[in-house]
Amino acid sequence: MNSLVKMKTYYDEGHTLSKEFRIQQLKKLADAILKYENEINEALYLDLGKSIEESWATEIGLLLGEIKYAIKNIHRWMKPERVAGSLLTFPSSGKIYKEPLGVVLIIAPWNYPLQLMLAPLIGAIAAGNCVVLKPSEAAPATEKLIEKLIKEIYDDHFVRVFTGDGAIVVPDLMNQFKFNHIFYTGSTQVGKLIYQQAAADLIPVTLELGGKSPCIVEADADITVTAKRIISGKFINAGQTCIAPDYILVHEAVKEKLLTEMAHAIQQFYSSDPASSSDYGKIIHGKHFKRLVQFLHPGKIYFGGKFDESKLFIEPTILTDISPEDDIMKEEIFGPILPVIPFSNSQEAIEIVRKNKNPLSFYLFTKDAKKEKEWLQKISFGGGCINNTVWHFTNKKMPFGGIGNSGLGAYHGQFTFETFSHRKPILKSPTWFDPSIKYPPYKGKINLLKKIFR
Ligand code: NAD
Repeated sequence: MNSLVKMKTYYDEGHTLSKEFRIQQLKKLADAILKYENEINEALYLDLGKSIEESWATEIGLLLGEIKYAIKNIHRWMKPERVAGSLLTFPSSGKIYKEPLGVVLIIAPWNYPLQLMLAPLIGAIAAGNCVVLKPSEAAPATEKLIEKLIKEIYDDHFVRVFTGDGAIVVPDLMNQFKFNHIFYTGSTQVGKLIYQQAAADLIPVTLELGGKSPCIVEADADITVTAKRIISGKFINAGQTCIAPDYILVHEAVKEKLLTEMAHAIQQFYSSDPASSSDYGKIIHGKHFKRLVQFLHPGKIYFGGKFDESKLFIEPTILTDISPEDDIMKEEIFGPILPVIPFSNSQEAIEIVRKNKNPLSFYLFTKDAKKEKEWLQKISFGGGCINNTVWHFTNKKMPFGGIGNSGLGAYHGQFTFETFSHRKPILKSPTWFDPSIKYPPYKGKINLLKKIFR
């Protein structure tokens, strides 16, 4: 029997259903993350040059927080919701049960290779599923560690890892077995392939994709704080963050001040030699490095621009004199290069943003509530911040996900539990009351029916 069918049998036997089982598995995961903290730090350093502080803040700490939150709230999440009955169904009571989906597949990218693999796993376990994990082969040290950690703590009927080239492994897994849900994080291009293959079997999907996330700086923004918040959100993980501000649209009145302050912030955060800063990471691999270096032309390098292929290093770089028609404005950059384009009125800026539909994130810096309302109404995007960047991701009480080109569905906290659950509504009727109006023949009952059915 194929190993995935064995997982389905294990699921069907009901092993994963009890609250106690789910909590125990979540605790095991937290313990293992802590046990392997040093190895995780080493793997993330090897793959992406992350410092231990960054690894804690963006990977380990976020995961431990999600586990703690799930354990604390699981009783409430699992509890069937009571629903009031209606005149139509009187007398009756209603409940919405949260049912696990079955055996689900989670596929992760390389940029936050541990967090983006295990955060959906936490919700999938909390919801009572069996899980197949596919980490990214582009972050090989983390991929290997995930495989080891999961093998050590979980029976492979419950959670198991498949590694290797996603273009081969994922379609193969999907051909072998009809998963009950697929949760994919990665590029829009691959997301479409997965969606197509899943559609043939009506398999539901969550797609956490990318896109060009704009950052708007209005003339009334507090430029010193704005600059710091843009630079920290953009250059964390050397710009390889799906929600990083992709490009800046700045009101022409404050362009020069913003450029000066952003250059200052880069030096303040990463020193005048970012290549030797422990807080500044590396590009994942040679192919991505070559793609990014091409973006350094055309346009003018306002700050940075140095690179070293042997170290997969690209300096935090600010570009000016970029046209909305340049290649760099047509696809997600996903690296440490920040184009800055001035605008003179909001309409002009809105048109530039609308050239790349449905960004994953959107950032606006302004003190003006009217401008805030106008921007939020005019642009369709996944989620975002006012007067900040990227931090919305960390709030477990907010759903994280895209819209249209940037994705389908959302997760974090309770939203992950819901993503991996079916809401099963059940109406319960007693038998002591059984009015004949509800049964044929209906002739002569029209006036009564008109009263009830509205
Ligand atoms: P990717 O699509 O190349 O790979 C992601 C995963 O898909 C990997 O596990 C890989 O093995 C697998 N894969 C690769 N080719 C496949 C195929 N043909 N069929 C099935 N699976 C395949 O993406 P990436 O380069 O790893 O990630 C970068 C993209 O991910 C960026 O666009 C970024 O914005 C996006 N991203 C989004 C989020 C989010 O939360 N929305 C988070 C991180 C990254």
